Amino acid sequence: MLQIYNTLTRQKEYFRPLHEGHVGMYVCGPTVYGDAHLGHARPAITFDLLYRYLLHLGYKVRYVRNITDVGHLEHDADEGEDKIAKKARLEQLEPMEVVQYFTNRYHHDMEALNVLPPTIEPHASGHIIEQIEFVKKILEKGYAYISNGSVYMDVEKYAQDYPYGKLSGRNLEEIKTETRELDGQNEKKHSFDFALWKKAAPEHIMHWPSPWSEGFPGWHMECSTMGTKYLGEEFDIHGGGLDLMFPHHEAEIAQSCAALGHDSVHYWMHNNMITIAGKKMGKSYHNFITLEQFFKGEHELLSKPFSPMTIRFFILMAHYRSTVDFSSEALEAAEKGLARLTEAYNRLMKLKPADQTTVELTNLRQLCEEAMEDDLNSPIVISHLFDSSRAINTVFDGKGTISSEDLAEMQAVWKTFVVDILGLRMEENNASAGTDAYKGAIDLLLNIRLAAKQNKDWATSDKIRNELTALGFSVKDTKDGFEWSL
Ligand code: ZN
Repeated sequence: MLQIYNTLTRQKEYFRPLHEGHVGMYVCGPTVYGDAHLGHARPAITFDLLYRYLLHLGYKVRYVRNITDVGHLEHDADEGEDKIAKKARLEQLEPMEVVQYFTNRYHHDMEALNVLPPTIEPHASGHIIEQIEFVKKILEKGYAYISNGSVYMDVEKYAQDYPYGKLSGRNLEEIKTETRELDGQNEKKHSFDFALWKKAAPEHIMHWPSPWSEGFPGWHMECSTMGTKYLGEEFDIHGGGLDLMFPHHEAEIAQSCAALGHDSVHYWMHNNMITIAGKKMGKSYHNFITLEQFFKGEHELLSKPFSPMTIRFFILMAHYRSTVDFSSEALEAAEKGLARLTEAYNRLMKLKPADQTTVELTNLRQLCEEAMEDDLNSPIVISHLFDSSRAINTVFDGKGTISSEDLAEMQAVWKTFVVDILGLRMEENNASAGTDAYKGAIDLLLNIRLAAKQNKDWATSDKIRNELTALGFSVKDTKDGFEWSL
């Protein structure tokens, strides 16, 4: 039975969905004001692994991953100008053009990484009415106040009735000492109060009417609103990067408790962060590498281009709750590991069965399942697959045999775990296998044509030659059969 680590209770728990056979899952998606980087790849791949495993277990999953296109600001969630609005103003674009441009690029990168799309991908800007209604509920319950056209969460009042900070393990006293009281925040009672609705400054181009002002929702509001809209007041799983735990997810819990009287989420899951040569990723460190740069090898920290599957394999080689330190050498090692796994996979699919099995086999299916059920332990799954590749190579080298029953099971387990659950596209990593298959297919067609000619079936023979010629192949009849080239 699947066990996952619940960040809220700080322990592994057996996963029991609210509704039998169904799972509701919400994952904080990207803010679409720039290209996706390695930091975006990790949550996307982590929750893709979970999504794929839940599907493998037979659950019907409603997977909501949002697009943040309003309300997430450059330095502080409450002050300053919206990143998308700023970009739109500087480049004289419609804000929705900026949003669409980076959303398309994000989708392109996710597809390259073989990350399955969510079942619902709502935009914050498409849910302004619902967010206003959510803010109204919090105001009605008395946990928010209006100040100069903006609405703020009254964190001190909330903390009298609910444990604010329970997810991140902080208490209000700690938060108070950590938070600087900044100048110009006079409209808030306390600096740790966060905006639920923000009055737009005159130069702000993304704003909507509300009962309080022409403005826009605070960043945290969209996830509380869209999570409960699509998954219900209570749902199973909420995921995201560890960097979102505070303040974003803590604020989400506060908003939901304030409006609904209870938290919406049963299991909070967080993936750990990626560092680059031991440092946090960030523009100021000159170590900010986009996925596109990885795929093309265009960054001073990269020795060469790395394929999307190498990036995916690199991320899966670590457990999602451990930190991963990126370096070009680490990626080169992942590339070699993936090549070995791919070679074993391709050999396995071509093995010929014998009467009996003489190589030593483990119960691979059970071992891989146990690893996945232990909080999605992908590195252990990978190590079991590598162990199993020894038997494959022994049979491939003619030093052992495998029965047809054992071979069919082994092929099925590899396909399930490598392709369906780890989501590794095998064909991309082996260009020669692709070439072999392609050559084999053309040879097959021309052999059919040869047989047709011998049977004086000129119609079939001409059809095959003419259509191959139309596709750009040159087909020549020879003494022994045929020759072709592209
Ligand atoms: Zn969120």
